[in-house]
Amino acid sequence: MELACLDLEGVLIPEIWIDFAERTGIEGLKATTRDIPDYNVLMQQRLRLLDENNLKLADIQNVIADMAPLEGAQEFLNWLRERFQVIILSDTFYEFSAPLMKQLDWPALFCHKLEVDDQGRVSNYLLRQSNPKQKSVEAFQSLNFRVIAAGDSYNDTTMLGAAEVGILFHAPKNVIDEFPQFEAVDTFLDLKRAFIAASERELTL
Ligand SMILES: [Mg+2]
Repeated sequence: MELACLDLEGVLIPEIWIDFAERTGIEGLKATTRDIPDYNVLMQQRLRLLDENNLKLADIQNVIADMAPLEGAQEFLNWLRERFQVIILSDTFYEFSAPLMKQLDWPALFCHKLEVDDQGRVSNYLLRQSNPKQKSVEAFQSLNFRVIAAGDSYNDTTMLGAAEVGILFHAPKNVIDEFPQFEAVDTFLDLKRAFIAASERELTL
């Protein structure tokens, strides 16, 4: 039995925080773990900036609802779901990704959760567990699934390493250079081909 695990941001949808920062003009929200390596410090800064700009969860979701999946993502996901059980493993939050998941017809998503107070203000965040992508893959393997995984960034590499086959998609050059053990592809057509090659079953495009 085979399972396909996909990263979300950078693979099927844009980077939510970056797109959100561009749409709202809040420069500080463009910071990523590349700028602030401590994820907790980064998230506290993001929540403070949302608060300072008086953005409640509903306002944030309105902005995100105007975003769209990456071109070709929906078609690719439909193709994949016809051939594999698909689970999306992401470090995003259910509340932020919901408007985009709706556009992707609600595939299964394992990610994190926000805390929202009675004023609708994002007051905190709840990480489901540490290193959730790798742990999810290992859990699926314990259920006798053979896992083929694809992602675009550093936070995917433990997932790709744990999977029977790991594929880099849309990855920046430094990640490709640092992890030559993973095949790297750049188009959805090549990603389909990589999944076909990784599968133990006879599949076609
Ligand atoms: Mg990503």
